[in-house]
Amino acid sequence: MNHIQGSLIYEGKAKRIFSSEDPNRVLIEFKNDATAFNAKKRSEIDGKGRLNCRISGALFKLLEANGIPTHFLELHSETIMFADKVNVIPLEVVIRNIATGSLCRETPINHGTILNPPLLDFYYKDDQLGDPILTERRLKLLDLINASQKEEVEEITESVNKILKEYFDSLDLILVDFKLEFGFNSLGKIVVADEISPDNCRFWDKKNSDPQDRILDKDRFRQDLGGVIDAYEEIFKRIENFSSNAS
Ligand code: UDP
Repeated sequence: MNHIQGSLIYEGKAKRIFSSEDPNRVLIEFKNDATAFNAKKRSEIDGKGRLNCRISGALFKLLEANGIPTHFLELHSETIMFADKVNVIPLEVVIRNIATGSLCRETPINHGTILNPPLLDFYYKDDQLGDPILTERRLKLLDLINASQKEEVEEITESVNKILKEYFDSLDLILVDFKLEFGFNSLGKIVVADEISPDNCRFWDKKNSDPQDRILDKDRFRQDLGGVIDAYEEIFKRIENFSSNAS
């Protein structure tokens, strides 16, 4: 069923949020719209919404099973999920296991450098400002989260990284980096929100050493490499095969 009865609360670049009968629950619809470079590059990719919804659903389930609090409740349909209604904190928390992307554009660190321990950075979520990176002091000055909440966000992000890195390794995928968003649920508890998909994670195929062919995430769109949906499909296929082998 794809029909939603609730009213539209918010429409973002890749998702629409609708109210549900329960005031503490929302429906999140994943769209086919693709954007990059803070929405300066746009396109529509058939099937992306379905794949990101299903990949996110599977990964949120995996995290919940490992004790990570998330907003995810259950899938509603192929492109829609039920989630806790949260107040999203306007922060993008990025954790990197391998250097690439903005880290290599903005610092002399070489592409492909292994980051051990992983590098965690906070960015202020605002397209118009270009999602600027925050120093510790700027983060404190913004006062979006207090010191203990900051620690909690960092601990959750590091745990999510450990869980996902190990999981994707078993699927022959390297988890290069990813971005998380957090929100406060109706009880004031901090939970992982938004999505976890090839739109906000970088995956490299362990079975492929070609630096372009191994890319199985949104970098295919960002860099005009083609085969975007095939890459997302491949991630989903490996997740599904893992689940059917496990059950
Ligand atoms: N990311 C994201 N949304 C953003 C910026 C980054 O989901 O607005 C993700 C991106 O997909 C990658 C990680 O965060 O997995 C690190 O991205 P980076 O800072 O290297 O940015 P980019 O090279 O895409 O500008």
